[in-house]
Amino acid sequence: MTLTNFIGDRWTGSRGDKTFEKRNPADERDLIGIFRASSAEDVQEAVLAARSALPAWRALSYDARAQFLFKAAERIAAKQTEIASALTREEGKSLAEATGEVARAAVILRYYAGEALRSVGEVLPSLNATTMLFTERLPLGVVGLITPWNFPFVIPVWKTAPALVYGNTVVLKPSEHSPVTAHMLAEIFHDVGLPAGVFNLVQGGRETGEALTTAVGVNGISFTGSAAAGKQIARVCAERGLRYQLEMGGKNPVVVLEDANLPRAVELTVQGAMKLAGEKCTATARAIVVESIADEFVRRLVDRVKELEVGPGTEGKYYLGPLISAAARTNVLRHIELAQQEGARLLCGGAMTGRDDMVCGYYIGPTVLDNVRPEMAIAQEEVFGPVLAVLRVPDFDTAIRVANGIAYGLSASVFTRSLDKALRFAREVEAGLVRINGDTATLEPQAPFGGLKASSSFSRENGQAAKEFYTQLKTISVDRAD
Ligand code: NAD
Repeated sequence: MTLTNFIGDRWTGSRGDKTFEKRNPADERDLIGIFRASSAEDVQEAVLAARSALPAWRALSYDARAQFLFKAAERIAAKQTEIASALTREEGKSLAEATGEVARAAVILRYYAGEALRSVGEVLPSLNATTMLFTERLPLGVVGLITPWNFPFVIPVWKTAPALVYGNTVVLKPSEHSPVTAHMLAEIFHDVGLPAGVFNLVQGGRETGEALTTAVGVNGISFTGSAAAGKQIARVCAERGLRYQLEMGGKNPVVVLEDANLPRAVELTVQGAMKLAGEKCTATARAIVVESIADEFVRRLVDRVKELEVGPGTEGKYYLGPLISAAARTNVLRHIELAQQEGARLLCGGAMTGRDDMVCGYYIGPTVLDNVRPEMAIAQEEVFGPVLAVLRVPDFDTAIRVANGIAYGLSASVFTRSLDKALRFAREVEAGLVRINGDTATLEPQAPFGGLKASSSFSRENGQAAKEFYTQLKTISVDRAD
């Protein structure tokens, strides 16, 4: 398979001399392709194409721009099966999850097309009776989007859709682990006749991403990925005076109290931890359980986890598929090993000894570690795999303290029937997304999404919150001419 960049409505080969290889994580013998990474020159060319397209694009009516989003949603719906199967082959998640992701991308495009009819400013009463005073949100300009591989279709869409509807032009740099679905997204925008240069795609890895943050003519960077990369991007953007938005990792807790509905708490903890092989920023990584019910909770949890089947996403019947790469698998196994050395007890999971045809995939068994203490690495660091750490605590106050005792603050859940405790948790837990009696990983496209502390740059994506990033606010006053 060959893939190219998409710059100014032309499919162009990269001038970079570095290549990157993409294999199917369920079976590394399946080589998807060897692709050429984009050079800094390629990236600069894409930014210039976006810059040239900007005046005409921002001059269109909101409604005219929205029509392209509606058409893209239709096109995605028509190609749903094709995109989902490419996504499963490239990323490893199950076909059902991949189909859900593609369907959600269409919903998001329609949502932002609808936003084209909503307010982009407000009228304020002026101190002067004859002055009309108002604010108007105007496009940020050329926006660089840098995205991860774990939701390789929907994350580029949830950044691109608001960027376009508010009048910006875009250069997307997807993850080097998910070039094919990004290519398909570019094809969609090409097919619906988006004007040349409004959406551009440059393929490549970290260096291509760095080139986007330093390219001349970029006005802002929206990044989703690891905290380490986010910090570096923040430094570059702050230095250059660019607007930036970072959505990063998590180490998300569920707190299970003595009055929880245990079967529900167990099922949703398992779902949050193990779906998508734990490769979600919002995945449940810590179960903080009050001692009085901890034995019962852990017994039920492990029984349920042992039922989960692991296998190729294409086969449809498996709860979790492979991890994204051999390096990811090595990293997760290292974390499990270290946790045991630090005193955690492995209850199930770890390295997989599965079917013969699975030895060529990057699988890990769904893993539960008990007796984890808050200071251990497994309780502090993002593992990004199907690994759940159980921390036993004496009471609710300690549970909140332990939940908050980490650098991250993306999402958190509590299982309880007590309204008082639920509301106290919602107020006191340091997380941008809080769920009561729900799993940590669910999100809805119309609701603001983002974390606190090291999980985010205090910004929000999705819903109307996206408007904050993709527009800049002007205060305008109008007075009589005479
Ligand atoms: P990553 O940080 O390695 O890469 C993300 C993207 O940034 C890729 O496109 C990569 O090529 C690029 N990149 C890496 N270093 C860069 C740099 N210095 N400058 C510019 N670009 C750079 O992350 P990943 O492994 O692709 O994704 C997993 C991470 O993403 C996890 O930490 C996960 O929690 C996080 N994530 C967060 C959210 C969220 O919304 N909060 C959603 C999904 C994933």
